[in-house]
Amino acid sequence: MTDWQAEAERLDASDPISKHRGDFLLDDALAYLDGNSLGALPKATPDRIDKVVRGEWGDGLISSWNTASWIDLPQRIGAKIAPLVGAQPSEVVVADSVSVNLFKLISAALLMQDGRKVVLSEPGNFPTDLYMIEGLEGQGLAERRLADRDALEDALDDDVALLLLTHVHYKSGEMFDMKRLTRVAHQAGALVLWDLSHSVGAVPVDLGGSNADFAVGCGYKYLNGGPGAPGFAFVAQRHHDRLQQPLSGWMGHKAPFAFSDDYEPAPGVDQLLCGTPPILSMSALEVGVDLMAGIGIDALVAKSRELSEFTRAAMAQMVPELPCISPDDPASRGSQLSFRHEHAYELCQALIARKVIGDFRALDILRLGFAPAYVRYADCWRAVSELRDLLDSGEWKKPQYAQRAKVT
Ligand SMILES: *Cc1c(COP(=O)(O)O)cnc(C)c1O
Repeated sequence: MTDWQAEAERLDASDPISKHRGDFLLDDALAYLDGNSLGALPKATPDRIDKVVRGEWGDGLISSWNTASWIDLPQRIGAKIAPLVGAQPSEVVVADSVSVNLFKLISAALLMQDGRKVVLSEPGNFPTDLYMIEGLEGQGLAERRLADRDALEDALDDDVALLLLTHVHYKSGEMFDMKRLTRVAHQAGALVLWDLSHSVGAVPVDLGGSNADFAVGCGYKYLNGGPGAPGFAFVAQRHHDRLQQPLSGWMGHKAPFAFSDDYEPAPGVDQLLCGTPPILSMSALEVGVDLMAGIGIDALVAKSRELSEFTRAAMAQMVPELPCISPDDPASRGSQLSFRHEHAYELCQALIARKVIGDFRALDILRLGFAPAYVRYADCWRAVSELRDLLDSGEWKKPQYAQRAKVT
């Protein structure tokens, strides 16, 4: 039998980016395996927010739109996210939530596709992605079609305007082959929109090399932008001239401060801005993005794979009662592993009581996420050994662990 604890110690000791855990405000005793849902707080964020609030807002007041360059934050942060997803700086902008960006980009794609109305996705995709298509369907603008992963290619007929997929599945961790599916969709005359919420900052993403058309992504998961941080949107340069989206707010106008009665879109992704950007949230997001960019995507990806591989192997040997439903091949999955158990909810709550934070996804999934910037191999080992202990002792059966909260 492998001595997993010794193995974890060995891997932590030789981890080239282990020092970056110190960049986050995390209790040393905490095994935080939920950074794929809400990233940890960077130590530099409170000071940055304090400076923005007291200095830029309190002292600078309205002049800070210019003097502190608040007005440029959406593009400036977008340009920093771009290299994490294989995009050009001018192709990414930070705005709104992922859901709202989905609305804008699904609409934009439909407007580029004369006569085609079908938006193709898979059943079990993240709910908001499916709901946003439904909203447009309710307006008579789209037609939702769902096909299982292995039937997607066959479902790409002449009616499909857009293929909308989440690159890394939130529940199973399965990762689509972005390059191949984008090519197949293009051959069928469809455009492609990738949701990178569970990808950016943890797995390799090459929007440019994949010839992707559109993408959206989340700021509060692996980018550590804080609760409700704005998301980002990507539009390939080749589509900028034809880009048109219905949320024609004044911040997406070519000249917002001309106060014209008529809307004229700003060039490129600037048009995706709608209302005034949330400067406090954006400032926090910039700290998180700077941190990820500073560590470098290659180092993050390499460690993410090792963390999940360590955990998968240790779980298979030590806790065989919880089968892993994520792909075995690290190249085919995101930075997370999902395990099935009838009492996954109770097990998850009992783990949390022992300071091992994972999450539960209905109906029966215990999900462990590996944010490579701050997760230690020792944290992964803790999850495995505490699970073993909970199952052996039956402690997870205590009634308090069965009580359900509003957010799981
Ligand atoms: C987290 C997540 C979102 C979040 O959407 P919001 O509108 O920012 O709440 C969207 N899509 C996927 C796939 C996600 O994982």
